[in-house]
Amino acid sequence: MADIVVLGAGLGGTLMAYELLGVVGPGDRLTVIGQGSLYHFVPSNPWVAIGWRERDEVEIDLTDVMARKRINYLRQGAKRVVPAENRIELNDGTSAPYDYLVIATGPDLAFDEIAGLGPEGHTQSICHIDQAEKAHDAFETFARNQGPIVVGAVQGASCFGPAYEYAFILDTELRKRRIRDKVPMTFVTSEPYIGHLGLDGVGDTKSLLESRLRDRHIKWITSARVHHVDDGKMTVEEVGDDGNVKKTTELPFAFSMMLPAFRGVGAVRGIEGLTNPRGFVVVDKRQRNPKFKNIFGIGVCIAIPPVGPTPVPVGVPKTGFMIESMVTATAHNIGSLLKGKEPTDVATWNAICLADFGDSGVAFVAEPQIPPRNLNWSAEGKWVHYAKVAFEKYFLHKIRRGESEPFYERWVMEGLGIRKLTHAR
Ligand SMILES: Cc1cc2nc3c(=O)[nH]c(=O)nc-3n(C[C@H](O)[C@H](O)[C@H](O)COP(=O)(O)OP(=O)(O)OC[C@H]3O[C@@H](n4cnc5c(N)ncnc54)[C@H](O)[C@@H]3O)c2cc1C
Repeated sequence: MADIVVLGAGLGGTLMAYELLGVVGPGDRLTVIGQGSLYHFVPSNPWVAIGWRERDEVEIDLTDVMARKRINYLRQGAKRVVPAENRIELNDGTSAPYDYLVIATGPDLAFDEIAGLGPEGHTQSICHIDQAEKAHDAFETFARNQGPIVVGAVQGASCFGPAYEYAFILDTELRKRRIRDKVPMTFVTSEPYIGHLGLDGVGDTKSLLESRLRDRHIKWITSARVHHVDDGKMTVEEVGDDGNVKKTTELPFAFSMMLPAFRGVGAVRGIEGLTNPRGFVVVDKRQRNPKFKNIFGIGVCIAIPPVGPTPVPVGVPKTGFMIESMVTATAHNIGSLLKGKEPTDVATWNAICLADFGDSGVAFVAEPQIPPRNLNWSAEGKWVHYAKVAFEKYFLHKIRRGESEPFYERWVMEGLGIRKLTHAR
């Protein structure tokens, strides 16, 4: 009999719990620790931030589905993981013991690393639904009193796709409202070139995204380091290959959304052997922590080194399918441990992504995620927009039903030759 705990009930944690149902025995206990009972589909946030989605369309109360699946759901949140004692201290002062723990706590948003950045400062964010709703309110105010827009991702960011998405979605919405001609737009990014995406590009994302930014009259600054943000003005340094500042620009704005750098959440940060200096959970290729071998990590909260040196720090994105592959490998590996065997499964970490532009979009597949790759493909078209809408509905349906990977999904992915594991059990 084992106590298996999943910490975090976002995209990775929820699927993790559903997938573990297939490996736990009748005497084992499966617990999920969340913060509150509501699940939000993060990839829909750019749409929430423009008013194309309401909160209730992308929000699910997990209480019923967790009860139906006989998963013990604790909503009080974790204060601190105590690996030396195999327990988690919860925010209400109680403790949750574990034999196996999967950490899936996503990112802590490091707005405080740049003066004036973030919703408490002068820029908007779309990382959380509350922030996306606030960004939408700010956008409506802006639409009545237009001016320049600055969108992008700051130094140390690892999530670039949503910054491009939001820039293109803003452009689409402004054109719909017939006010695009009143709005100069600039894309500011720490990437060394447009379309790098933290992955050194995928397929032809460089020319594809550059060309779309040009078509839509969006200027850009790459290798950008945001020095500070004042009310209505962002000070940006362009860094050369030698690491020196080439140029400093003051960009005025009437509306700005900048994605922050990520770091690990407070409940795990600073635990020797568990997390790296930025608080990301250290895992081996089986998603297992090398020091605390009964702890696994999945999703945005894990440590992955950058693909290579860049003038300004750029992180590696952890995207949905890649996270799903970590979930599957972890479920199999915990299943092996429960049977007294050594874990053997390794996630592919393949990146498959749909980036919506509002009226079209870009799709890409990077297999494996880090170059050189076996499959390195990107394409553009209206179909991407519709595919992303369909995926949103499908994913929310899976979360409501308590399913991680229905048989037809596995069948389609196998048919396409896209796998989650590199090592069969
Ligand atoms: C705006 C945006 C759009 C994105 N769009 C896409 C996309 O289109 N396609 C794609 O493939 N990827 C996308 N991603 C990347 C990635 O898929 C998402 O970030 C995804 O939500 C990450 O899943 P996760 O489980 O690691 O983290 P999250 O989904 O963020 O879940 C982490 C959970 O842990 C909880 N938690 C944190 N601390 C504690 C604690 N102490 N106690 C209890 N619970 C805690 C949080 O409340 C949260 O529910 C996007 C990311 C962002 C930010």
